[in-house]
Amino acid sequence: MRQVTDAFNFYQGNNPRELAAEYGSPLYVYNERIFRQRCKEMIKLSTYPKFGVNYAIKANTNLTLLKIAREEGCTADISSAGEAMAAMAAGFKPSELLFVVNNVSAEELEYAVKLGITVSVDSLSQLDTLGQVNTGGRIALRFNPGIGGGHHEKVITGGDGTKFGIMPEYIPEVKNLLAKYNLKLIGINHHIGSQNWGDLYLEGVGALLDLARQFDDLEFIDLGGGFAIPYQKQSGEKPLDLQAIGSTLDKLLFDFSKSYGKELTFLIEPGRYLTAECGVLLGTVHSTKTCGEARYAGTDLGFSVLKRPTLYDSHHDIEIYRDEKSDTPLDDANKQIINIVGNQCESGDYIAKERQLPPLQKGDVLGVLDAGAYGYAMACQYNHRSRPAEILIQQDNTTKLIRRRDTHEDIIANMQGL
Ligand SMILES: *Cc1c(COP(=O)(O)O)cnc(C)c1O
Repeated sequence: MRQVTDAFNFYQGNNPRELAAEYGSPLYVYNERIFRQRCKEMIKLSTYPKFGVNYAIKANTNLTLLKIAREEGCTADISSAGEAMAAMAAGFKPSELLFVVNNVSAEELEYAVKLGITVSVDSLSQLDTLGQVNTGGRIALRFNPGIGGGHHEKVITGGDGTKFGIMPEYIPEVKNLLAKYNLKLIGINHHIGSQNWGDLYLEGVGALLDLARQFDDLEFIDLGGGFAIPYQKQSGEKPLDLQAIGSTLDKLLFDFSKSYGKELTFLIEPGRYLTAECGVLLGTVHSTKTCGEARYAGTDLGFSVLKRPTLYDSHHDIEIYRDEKSDTPLDDANKQIINIVGNQCESGDYIAKERQLPPLQKGDVLGVLDAGAYGYAMACQYNHRSRPAEILIQQDNTTKLIRRRDTHEDIIANMQGL
């Protein structure tokens, strides 16, 4: 049951059962080597000279990972003032941040403008607010050039019927507002959705570049994120063909810059691609039961720890780490269909539905793979459960605690008035 993490050398000699015993369960485990590798792959995606990677930090804002991303040469895409503070706490300079906003207050815009962070707004109404806050300033705009896609309707952020981006038909009004507030449009961006494979991504890039020609003198074009990762590696799913994407991207970028008459900067905004595969969530089986035909393994992996299966019906591969002293070895021969559920008081609380697995037992430690993106970042304290700890397997194979588990005091800390 260890084939995927073994193939990646994920634990680098550490035993996941021992990690869960030492740091507690559930536990987010990240691998530094894999994270750095993913950053490097994205940075060399295109050979265009002014090509950069804006890490969309909302996928995983652990400060240690942010610091590593910066060391690898990434800049950062942020979605809130809070994320700006996190990025700066990890060492990013305001000039290295692009604040892609959606429905924020004038105060939040003002916070970013005062620091000198470039803000990209995505509606005429927010452009008007930004014009008032940053009259005469340099700004960016997020467009929706009509292409969208993703792994679930909840993550599609382009095309018809999404709250994100300015539709191209509003460009005349955009130009009026730019003139009214004497704003200089230095960049445009888009983001079509999450977990997209190459073709749709490139189609989106083509559409954004067409739209970019309607603006003179841009300094950057940010082509968005959404690069897919294979969540079903146990069934042989293959990674993105970065070479194929890179060579088409190269052609699009070099051709555009030639016809635009300027070597502007091109950025991409991957979140998931950089962090998903560097994270495994460990949890423990505390009970097993059968209800009618359905078998359940009850764990400490409720949706307060990993929300993606409940929110998006997402698939995460599962590995089982059983005590070597157990007299029932993991045996593929007698696999059965089982639901892995959590400990929250909700029937939608599951981690894996109807999986073919060897019978699970109390005390088994489970590894939920590819949990490094939108995992801890979406964790909450529902049912007064502590958000888990996070550790890093460093390049020298040693482990380091990079966020401690919530204590009961943390959970009640903001309450007043007893
Ligand atoms: C979430 C987001 C991203 C990153 O998406 P991934 O699917 O994680 O790559 C990039 N850009 C914007 C504007 C986003 O909101």
